[in-house]
Formats: sequence, structure tokens, C-alpha cells
Amino acid sequence: MANWTRRSFVRSLSGAAAAMPLRAQQQRTRPGAIKITDLRCAIIGRNPTVRIVTDQGISGYGQAESTKPYLKPMVLFYRDYLLGEDPTDVQNVLLKIRRMGASKPWGSAVSAIEIALWDVAGQAAGVPVYKLLGGKIRNRVRAYNGGVRFPMSGQTPRDYAENMARMKEAKEGFTLIKQAVGFHNPAMMRAMPGAWYDEPRKGPPHSDRGLMTERGLKHVIACVEAMKKVLGDEIGLALDCGPGWTVKDAITFARALEPYHITWLEDLITGDYTPYPNADVFREVTQSTSVPIHTGEQIYLRENFKDLIEKRAVDVVGPDPEDVGGISELKWIAEYADLHGILMAPHGIFDGLFGLAAHVHMAAALPQNYIAFEYPLGQPDWWYEIVEGLPNPIMKKGFIDVWDRPGLGVTFNVRAAKARLSEEDRHFFD
Ligand SMILES: [Mg+2]
Repeated sequence: MANWTRRSFVRSLSGAAAAMPLRAQQQRTRPGAIKITDLRCAIIGRNPTVRIVTDQGISGYGQAESTKPYLKPMVLFYRDYLLGEDPTDVQNVLLKIRRMGASKPWGSAVSAIEIALWDVAGQAAGVPVYKLLGGKIRNRVRAYNGGVRFPMSGQTPRDYAENMARMKEAKEGFTLIKQAVGFHNPAMMRAMPGAWYDEPRKGPPHSDRGLMTERGLKHVIACVEAMKKVLGDEIGLALDCGPGWTVKDAITFARALEPYHITWLEDLITGDYTPYPNADVFREVTQSTSVPIHTGEQIYLRENFKDLIEKRAVDVVGPDPEDVGGISELKWIAEYADLHGILMAPHGIFDGLFGLAAHVHMAAALPQNYIAFEYPLGQPDWWYEIVEGLPNPIMKKGFIDVWDRPGLGVTFNVRAAKARLSEEDRHFFD
């Protein structure tokens, strides 16, 4: 028993002979009996991957967005705070480190650690993580396209219609699709000369902002109308819009779309390169239209959702579990939002396959204000060869069945995964 690997332990629990190893394991991991002996981080592909190592042969894994391949020093900063702690007292461990987080990327490191702690806690208790979050509200969870995208052939309304037709035929069978428009989609804006009263900026994407011209606004609306004609009322359409819109443009845009039953308009005012809640300004937009207004993917910790929720500044919040402080942090926000009549649609496009597993357990346990999470892919494709435990196919008709194995219920095929480690990270699985 003492030398069990995580894989063999998970396998034993999922098989018919689960009862004996489970009882034995429960005895071994009585409260206070398990200690963190190491915190490691490897960049696998582009995903920072966290491993919490314990003295009981159980390891827990968590991940951060693939957009942060530089995250290792931020994760390892917290190592000394974790050593010797009981990883099954998840909130107690987090109290030591959450205060030192911030918006991306520092909060991303805290979030990946939180997810890995839940993975350990679930394995130690012999139950899936969703049980530790309060139990299952739903047996299958809805996700929207996220990482599934097709290249655009151009920037006309017809091009957007054609792209939506391809998306509609995607094998995942999405029931909700999100598309980038407006300043969130520099190609759309820059294809229309004079779309707004400023020059396009060089540098990172989504950095344009300003007052739109009549021509620019009409172009964005025409592209949305063309997409809705393809999707009809069969499939929902959400739009990632900004940030960078003026308040009045945002209101004009939202009102023009009211006949089309758009699922939400995301980050019109702030978000992405402006990681501020800006509740009062969002509230003005939200109160001026019947189209649901969404924000939250940049925000760290529940405290920073307080204004947005208490002022009912938006209709939908969308934190990312890999940035907000983890899956229990996001659940707390979902519960508080629900008390205020606000919906939850978590961000997650770059969250990787351990991130996907975290989303599934979290979404299973969220209250009934849950809409859908943003579906992450394993990138590069070899990620699907180094992770075991995911359903095949993962998604059926836009939903993922919630699985029941202990912890996150997925693990590494260590032999295959080792071959993908860089020289610097070669001891990650030792
Ligand atoms: Mg977004």
C-alpha cells in the first residue's frame, strides 16, 4: 500500500474490488495523517501543471491557462507555505496563500494549487471532487465551444454566417456558441475602414477602443444578424465583445440586438486588458437593455465580485476557475450571484485537460444559475495521449457526462507524459 502510485490507487477504486482498498485508504488518510511533502510545477506543452506530492502516495494535479507558460516561478513562490500542511484541509491551506495572489498571473498560481488540493482531498476520501463541493446538482454539464473554432475566410457578414454553419456541424454538437465581435475581434473592426474614431493600435490584441462610427456599428450588427440567421432558435449565440466600448455604443448595440435573443454580451466595458470590475458603468448598460450583460474572467477572488453582484451590475458573471482562486472560490461566487438573481457562465478556453476535469466537477455542483462553461481543448493534440480517465467522446450533443472516480478522476499516463517533459522538468513525476 505504501508504495502505491496514484494511477493504481484510482484504478483500484474504480474497479469491482474497490471496497477493501477504499477502507484501507480511509484509515491511512484520517484527518491530520496526510502531509504535503512537495509542490512542483512543469510546463507541459504550454500548460503550467501543478503537482502536490504527499507522504501517503497520493498526488494531486491542477493546471493554469496555456497562455501562461511563464508561470512556474509564481507557483513555486507558494511552495514553502504548503510544506507540512494537511492538503485535505483545503480552505485552511488556502488561507495561507490566497492573500498573496492577485489578478492574472499571480491568482492563476493560487488557483492551480487549489484545484490540485481538491484532487488530493478527493482521492484521500475516496470520492469525486464534486462530492466535496456539496454534491451533484446535475448528471451532465453543458459547455460551449471555447477552444473549438474554425478559421474565418473573411470579415463580411456572409463569412460570419459560413463560419457559424461550420460551427453548427461541429462533432461536439454545441447548444451554445460564442463568437468574438467588436473590439474583441480586431480583424472584424480593422476590416471596416473608419470603424471607430481612433487609429488601430500595435501590440497585443484587444487593445483598440473608442467611439464607434455609424458605419462601424452597423457592420458589427450586420455580422451578428447573419450569424443568428444560421443558428435560428436551435443554438444559442453569445458574443465576446470588448472591452473598449463606450457606454452609449454598448447600449445602442445591445438594444439593436434585442430581437435576436442573444445569450449574453461579454466584457463590453472592461475585461481582458482592463481587469477591473467597473460595476457602476456596467450597471448603466445592464439597466438599459433586455440582453444579458456578462463579465468577470479577469477577476481574482470573491471579494472583487462583491460590487458587481450586490449592485446587480451584470446579469451573468464568468470567472475562470484557474484565475479566480479555484473551483470552490468560483462556487462561492455562483452561490452569492444566485442569491441576487445573477447567472453563472465560467470562462475556461485555455484551461487544458486537467482544467476541463476541474470544470466538470465544479459545474456538476453549481447552483441552478449555471448556464455553461467554456470548453477547453488539450493543445497540442498529444495531451489526449498523456491523460487518462476522460470520456470518449468527451462531449455528446453539447454536454459532458459527469464521471465518478475519486478526486478529479483523471490522471497522467506517466510513461507517455514523461516523454513530453522538457529537460528542465524531467523530475516532475519522480
Ligand atoms: Mg471573454
